[in-house]
Amino acid sequence: EYISVVNLATALRVHVDRLVTKMEELGFEDVQNYHILTSEDASLIAMEYNFQPLVEDEFARDLQALPEPEDKAHLPARPPIVTIMGHVDHGKTTLLDYLRKSAVVKSEFGGITQHIGAFSVPLPSGKTITFLDTPGHAAFLDMRQRGANVTDIVVLVVAADDSVKPQTIEAINHAQGAGVPMIVAINKMDKQGAAPEVVKRDLMANGVEVEDFGGDVQAIHVSGKTGQGMEDLEEAIVTLSEMLDHRADPQRQVEGWVIEAATKTSGKVATVLVRQGTLRIGDVLVAGQTWARVRSLKTDAGIVVESAGPGTPVEVGGWREQPEAGDEVIQASDEHKATSVVDYRIEKAERIKLAVDMEAINEARRAEAAKKATDEEATRRAEEYPDGEPEDAKTEEISTGPTNVPFIIKADVSGSAEAILNSVSAIGNGEVQAQVLRTGVGAVSEFDIEHAATAGGSIINFNTQTPGHIAALADANKVRILNHNIIYRLVDDVKSIVSEKLAPKV
Ligand code: GDP
Repeated sequence: EYISVVNLATALRVHVDRLVTKMEELGFEDVQNYHILTSEDASLIAMEYNFQPLVEDEFARDLQALPEPEDKAHLPARPPIVTIMGHVDHGKTTLLDYLRKSAVVKSEFGGITQHIGAFSVPLPSGKTITFLDTPGHAAFLDMRQRGANVTDIVVLVVAADDSVKPQTIEAINHAQGAGVPMIVAINKMDKQGAAPEVVKRDLMANGVEVEDFGGDVQAIHVSGKTGQGMEDLEEAIVTLSEMLDHRADPQRQVEGWVIEAATKTSGKVATVLVRQGTLRIGDVLVAGQTWARVRSLKTDAGIVVESAGPGTPVEVGGWREQPEAGDEVIQASDEHKATSVVDYRIEKAERIKLAVDMEAINEARRAEAAKKATDEEATRRAEEYPDGEPEDAKTEEISTGPTNVPFIIKADVSGSAEAILNSVSAIGNGEVQAQVLRTGVGAVSEFDIEHAATAGGSIINFNTQTPGHIAALADANKVRILNHNIIYRLVDDVKSIVSEKLAPKV
């Protein structure tokens, strides 16, 4: 997708100096041999030499989720997907067990339940709720970290006799941080000493605006043990889901998430939670670095089905390799497309791994070189001042050197990161100097922002997409992200930031 000026010259069979001249004629400024060109720029230049560029479109080689339809009003409603969170021993598992059992009793087949990572609860009204079967925060966070925004609603379980505890607060933070609305289930109402008013007051104190106090978070009194209030809880979930207007198109390309995967005697299976479209026997699916021709579909009640629509979890058989929980599932047109996408993804992952390894090696080399230089300096000083350093020799060291302006470099591929490192480290004069703290491959991360904020530096982002919440985090921390996909423009930007740090001339 990218090519350096030198490599383009080789490809076009012209001398690099001639190419640089040509590029400057075409309006490129300050061209250097190691500059990395986008495929667009490279194509334009190639055409000047009467070459017909053939750009391999990475986007086209992969499978992508379709954009969300803008107007969903005409689409059918889909079941909400609910995760239960709360402090340990407050009754998450008990509530899930109760809900699962009641679902089996209600279902006309009354099959043998199997744990597949999620289950559906049909309600008397004909509506359905889907619960993720793994209680706790780790599952929720794991999936989110992998980019899977699976949960529509969080049910926050708080024991009526124990009130708000550290993991309750943690769950509140996770849900609020992810922008997922909550319903509170005040559990263990059957117990002596149940004090729901205390729970509500404590929730208010922790930023959960419960209904009784004029807020809009519903708080339902339940008991996982006696079943008290469980229908009210289901009702509350349905009401909130209707308000949030959860809808999905059952007729588009199938998309979903892998919730759980396992290798059984019958073969490799994965629970897929369908987000869009209708999954059918015979469909071809890609997830992570593997694919499937759907051989079997089975619900959490152990019932074999022919299809599964939006909001429904099903165990899918027919995978070549076992996918991973959190993998996005996307339908492919046929097996040929599926295998070529999987090959492409494996190849890309290997490229990234190689880049990361190279980076670690380079980092180790740099650290070693720096240590060697320090050691040599110490030896030199020891020889120069065998009786200890005079005071003036010590102070000299502190007062010299230019002001460093720190940067973190993130790029889509290691080649670009390397080229940017070279260009950026060269920027500066005796007074100010650009200092590269770290280079990395991939999108800007939370850690990059923390690091930049601590160092008072900026982040250079070359050709990766910054997720919205990361951009917001950068804003909140007053960390600048310089987004570029042309190196010479990036260099100009860095130059101007570095020169901001110059003391005003008197
Ligand atoms: P988790 O750690 O949040 O999954 O909590 P569990 O579901 O394992 O429940 C912890 C303990 O509380 C168990 O001994 C349950 O039997 C008990 N428990 C859960 N819900 C209730 C309830 O509504 N009433 C009573 N009395 N005990 C409950």
